[in-house]
Amino acid sequence: MTHIVSLLECRTYEYDLVKKAIVQSFENLGGISPYIQKGDIVLLKVNLLMKKTPEEATTTHPIFVKALAETLLAHGAQVLIGDSPGGPFNEKALRGVYRVCGMEQIAHELGCTLNYNTNSIHVKNKKGLLLKQLTVVEMLQDVTKVISVSKLKTHGMAMFTGAVKNMFGIVPGILKAEYHFSMPEIADFSDALIDICAYADPILSFMDGIVGMEGEGPSAGIPREIGVVLASTSPYHLDVAAAAIIGLTPTQVPTIKRSVARGLCSGTLEDIIFPAERPEKFLLSDYKIPKIRSTNLLPPTTPSYVKTFVNACLQPKPVFHFKDCVGCGICAESCPAKVLHMQDQKPIIDLNECIRCFCCQELCPKKAVTIHRPWIMKILSKI
Ligand code: SF4
Ligand code: SF4
Repeated sequence: MTHIVSLLECRTYEYDLVKKAIVQSFENLGGISPYIQKGDIVLLKVNLLMKKTPEEATTTHPIFVKALAETLLAHGAQVLIGDSPGGPFNEKALRGVYRVCGMEQIAHELGCTLNYNTNSIHVKNKKGLLLKQLTVVEMLQDVTKVISVSKLKTHGMAMFTGAVKNMFGIVPGILKAEYHFSMPEIADFSDALIDICAYADPILSFMDGIVGMEGEGPSAGIPREIGVVLASTSPYHLDVAAAAIIGLTPTQVPTIKRSVARGLCSGTLEDIIFPAERPEKFLLSDYKIPKIRSTNLLPPTTPSYVKTFVNACLQPKPVFHFKDCVGCGICAESCPAKVLHMQDQKPIIDLNECIRCFCCQELCPKKAVTIHRPWIMKILSKI
């Protein structure tokens, strides 16, 4: 099925320009009225991975969120801004994230609401392939519509984090780690991400691609100007367009590959209508993308000593840089496989049991964790 993806050039977070792009995005999608009615309570599911300033390009930029929220408010909707960041999902943690990420200020300026409901609910997921049941944040029940407002970033495990992966944030707090642990295979984890996105069923998906992140995303990479505001009725098609912009063959991205297998999109630009600009206009062929491989390269029947040897030789692994480490212990608390422990305020890892989810890299506030890829895998990934 074809879907519209609106791509508009915007190279700065100057408010008037971002607002103009957001308003034009709605027009390109056929207006606001087909999607949002007066009285709707709309969750802007932003990406607030951790306490990072807007300039670090880890989180959806507050000016982007403000422009979108103001447009919805003017249409008679109420707006709730929310996410379940990495780490514990409680009011104290949320306050810190909202403050540092700039959400507190824009909520104050606009008079819209920040989510502090940290309850969870257990739900059935009729659209799920792997996850027929889910535990999700209760805030979904507080709203009538959901809009995904993601950030265009790279990701060490998933290669790319876009509109579909953004919805992983409806899984509360550290429960996300259990999903990583129970599905170490990237294909399974990608299916789980699609299941979660399907449950959230965002009516629209916007993506902040004005300044994205390249390299060691989603938190330790480098901000990179892309200059595009993306919007679509389909998170799957939006991700295809975004992947093409950063120089990927979209089906290289595990979530897109699984979306294609599930008939949600073609994985090409063929089933996308671009009413404004096309991806070629923004193409960055030198965008730094993490090279990923399946986290488990061998069949399950492989003897464990062979697995251990091959994994040691071929698997990417987290490396801890003690000169940057401040001993906060967040990595150890967040490790789904419980293979990290703190000793003398430094993380110590049991690599044999590491499931290569890279939550430790994702959530380290000091960029003290990098992903080391063996030289042979760097060569293989270019073949
Ligand atoms: S590696 Fe990062 S998250 Fe882990 S203890 Fe050091 S600073 Fe904290
Ligand atoms: S050490 Fe890091 S990559 Fe390994 S399982 Fe723990 S969080 Fe995941």
